[in-house]
Amino acid sequence: MSTYGHVIGGEEVPSLDGATMASIDPYTQQPWAEVACGGAADAQRAVAAARAAFDDGPWPRMGFAERGRLLHRLADLIEANASELALTETQDMGKPTADAAQHDVPRSASNFRFFADHARLAPGEALPMDSGHHAYTRFEPAGVVAAIAPWNFPLMLETWKVAPALAWGNTVVLKPAEDTPVSATLLARLALEAGLPPGVLNVLHGYGPDSAGAALTESAQVDRITFTGESGTGRAIARAASAHLTPVSLELGGKGANVVFDDADLDNAVAWAVKAVFNNAGQVCLAGSRVYVQRGVYDEFLARFVAAAEALRLGDPKDPATQMGPLASEEHFRKVSSYVEGLGDGSGKMLTGGVADGWFVRPTIVVDAPADARVVREEIFGPVVVVQGFDTEAEAVGLANDTPYGLNAMVFTQNLSRAHRVAAALRAGTVWVNCFFIRDLRAPFGGVGDSGIGREGGSFSREFFTEPKAVVAQIAPG
Ligand code: NAD
Repeated sequence: MSTYGHVIGGEEVPSLDGATMASIDPYTQQPWAEVACGGAADAQRAVAAARAAFDDGPWPRMGFAERGRLLHRLADLIEANASELALTETQDMGKPTADAAQHDVPRSASNFRFFADHARLAPGEALPMDSGHHAYTRFEPAGVVAAIAPWNFPLMLETWKVAPALAWGNTVVLKPAEDTPVSATLLARLALEAGLPPGVLNVLHGYGPDSAGAALTESAQVDRITFTGESGTGRAIARAASAHLTPVSLELGGKGANVVFDDADLDNAVAWAVKAVFNNAGQVCLAGSRVYVQRGVYDEFLARFVAAAEALRLGDPKDPATQMGPLASEEHFRKVSSYVEGLGDGSGKMLTGGVADGWFVRPTIVVDAPADARVVREEIFGPVVVVQGFDTEAEAVGLANDTPYGLNAMVFTQNLSRAHRVAAALRAGTVWVNCFFIRDLRAPFGGVGDSGIGREGGSFSREFFTEPKAVVAQIAPG
């Protein structure tokens, strides 16, 4: 079994107390890698390395072009090592290797390319003043960034944080999720190979509460915390960060609504509805886990949706034909199973799906669930979707917005005005019209309500990872 360390100050190191943890392959249910497991002392060591690299090292001072060149080299190396990285994601969390190869790994490389170029090309503001002064803006790097990531798209979501933080001249301590640690060490190795100076990208492995993760959020030496994960964890991190007033960006859970009107292109709507909730075995913050269908097409939509769900191929995630792997861990499998096994007794009727052997849950479609049922209210984070009919546009908007979450929503209609009306009325950080998952990295990404605080992407990432500064200069009269 291979071993993977923390990467701190340019060295791959074990934990100070020698502690390790196993990464379990969810398909074989066997350990496949041994990984350092850090605690508070390791977190302090990682933050000290990032602090030194920021305060005294070349990275914040080398300029956008040179930093960008190194980040593009890192993207090249990610692409050159795509097969190993994709397989790593499969072994750590069970996603189909083909999905990781087609989506997660290319997107990880493009995160570095995009933010390297965006930072280099971003304009500042010049504000000529009537008073004989001239004001302009600068965007100074914030300092040491703690990036805390979840396990559902490990490398992709880590690079979504690390790339803008580095492009804007910060140094980083990345803490990957304990269930999916390996690709972060591989990333840090590639960053050193690309020529990033020691201490610029540090990787700290370990658990969250009372451990490595919490220690990062409590550190006075950390200048920004960017977190993606559960809403409850987001609250704990916001509380910890308040001690030093450390700014936080929180990308949290979701319960995405998918609204299908009578006039929708049903082939398109069904195809996206399937991807929206069964892709990555539903372990997606953006999952379209509540589908509202106008009554004129309800029966036809449902029949096609069930047929498409039943046609999905479950199996060994390394097999290129597999469309859905197991859930990411035994603990998560038990959590998702509890929703499926809890159906009945007026809490919803399962049309297809259910718990299967291994850590698999089949694509599960539920109808007749009351508005207060757990499957309707709570983020399941698995391949489970509730479908409900509606009559009017106003009713659909009301149903879609009846959630504490507000990460994203979808609307399927051929009526242009209705598409824009409904997009405006939906309470969500992103609304997709007749599509889903399509991203422009310049666009704001984040959620309202329990789905988070702040936005990342393009200039929104710049706002978070820098200290915007106003410079006001007197122009003396001649
Ligand atoms: P999680 O909150 O359990 O863990 C996420 C990370 O936080 C892990 O690295 C964990 O070790 C760390 N952590 C846990 N407690 C901590 C603490 N007290 N202090 C510091 N760090 C701590 O989330 P998860 O189960 O890994 O991921 C699934 C969740 O992530 C879902 O709710 C999903 O919706 C959400 N998510 C959101 C987005 C988004 O962009 N909004 C994207 C992906 C996933």
